[in-house]
Amino acid sequence: MRIVLVGPPGAGKGTQAAFLAQNLSIPHISTGDLFRANISKGTDLGKQAKSYMDAGQLVPDEVTIGMAKDRMEQPDAVNGFLLDGFPRNVSQAEALDVALKADDVKLDAVLDLEVPEDEVVKRIAGRRICRNDSAHVFHVVYKQPEAEGVCDVCGGELYQRDDDKEETVRKRLEVYHTQTEPIIDYYREQGLVVTISALGKVEEVTARAMEALGR
Ligand SMILES: [Zn+2]
Repeated sequence: MRIVLVGPPGAGKGTQAAFLAQNLSIPHISTGDLFRANISKGTDLGKQAKSYMDAGQLVPDEVTIGMAKDRMEQPDAVNGFLLDGFPRNVSQAEALDVALKADDVKLDAVLDLEVPEDEVVKRIAGRRICRNDSAHVFHVVYKQPEAEGVCDVCGGELYQRDDDKEETVRKRLEVYHTQTEPIIDYYREQGLVVTISALGKVEEVTARAMEALGR
């Protein structure tokens, strides 16, 4: 199956992508991983991406598309893949269509994870991260530490990242609405969109997604 996963920040997209890819035995292709892999291997595209990132600029669509295309043509992606974080705008979606057509394959579904905006803000703005290790993540409502402001794992101080502040989250949602949501309409015209609620436990959402995909 060839799937594109879309959803606002805070929808749990990365977590769902990992579980779904495993359940469907297809690689999980995320833009973050693509950038990291190309930069660490020093590929031409990686070098280009790095020069933009070092200059504090957005990586142009052509570079991202090139990396995604290379990855989709690897042997493990012959029978399908799950794209996470790409395409993130209509021009990338159009370029993806061209790339797939060149390989004579088609997308099977675009899985749209839906979460009410206030829930997104609650999820992200409630996160508290440990100063000693960013993998120690807590939440003021959903995963409270035993002692307020203190990491259960190592005793470190918990803080809220600037990225997680409500104002920043609202801005990220705005970017999602203006740039990424139009791709849902683009794919709807192709009859590919499957929308599910991303509320509830991680395993419930995965089960809902598998059912919606007919698996
Ligand atoms: Zn800690």
